[in-house]
Amino acid sequence: MKCTRCKAKAEVHLRAHNAGFCRPCYLEYFRRHVERAVKHERMFGPGDRILVAVSGGKDSLALWDVLAGMGHQTTGLYLGLGIGAYSDRSREKVEAFATARGLPLVVRSLAAEGPGLAVPDVAASTRRMPCAACGAMKRHFFDAAAHEGAFDVLATGHNLDDEVAVLMQNTLRWQTGYLARQAPVLPASREGLTRKVKPFCRFYERETATYALVRSIDYVYEECPHAVGNLTNFYKTLLNQLETQSPGAKLGFYLEFLRARGEGAFEQFNKVETLHACETCGQPTSAPGRCAFCRMWDIEKLTSAVVQ
Ligand code: SF4
Repeated sequence: MKCTRCKAKAEVHLRAHNAGFCRPCYLEYFRRHVERAVKHERMFGPGDRILVAVSGGKDSLALWDVLAGMGHQTTGLYLGLGIGAYSDRSREKVEAFATARGLPLVVRSLAAEGPGLAVPDVAASTRRMPCAACGAMKRHFFDAAAHEGAFDVLATGHNLDDEVAVLMQNTLRWQTGYLARQAPVLPASREGLTRKVKPFCRFYERETATYALVRSIDYVYEECPHAVGNLTNFYKTLLNQLETQSPGAKLGFYLEFLRARGEGAFEQFNKVETLHACETCGQPTSAPGRCAFCRMWDIEKLTSAVVQ
């Protein structure tokens, strides 16, 4: 196969797009698609300060790389989850990436934020699945870091496979409220919240991995130990089978969803929640009294006291 752009020998084949690229043209294709997504969804402008949440994996480091390469003002945010050797290696990769490129990095760690806040500890004491506890803490600390640093936008490396797996789960249960809120851009609905964007939401995971490979980005290859057998991975496996039989199926499903959403198909389910400041931490919340994170942390503290 020849490169779709320059007719040299293609090294990257994209079945869903029926296209092939040599390495330099693939980088060009990738950057142009990011630029288009940013402009089309009005994610951010040239002067905006962007906080990029980086886990040490290929998607988030590729995102940081491409946005910094496009000349945007980026700062990385690494949140140490306290998941043993996996977290140690992830942090090393992120720090090495930032140092090699001279990019600013904010490092926070759950263990340093409070006793018993590491993901495995909170999951055990609150009897939640680790990913549920992890998600609640990421939301809390990402928002806090973005607010404290007065960033204009928080960018995450969610790719098409991530988005379609969530879309599939929400569709199968007709969770219309979640469908209404699943979007490439989540606006800052109140003081204390920061706009959240997903510039990679139209890229297959394979495309972001290829970008990381071509750019020689050193990322953590292993998956988080809690990812094994979780629901999102189960749906990803199912969707990969579908994609093998029907190339482009995932992209088509997602784009049609965005089109329907853009035409207001879920508007009636998008309830505007009344937010107020959490009594404990001050972050905006729709829950009465305290936010989900502070209630979760209280259970953790109670459990620790009983154990001692
Ligand atoms: Fe957190 Fe679950 Fe992802 Fe691990 S797999 S980083 S616990 S959300």
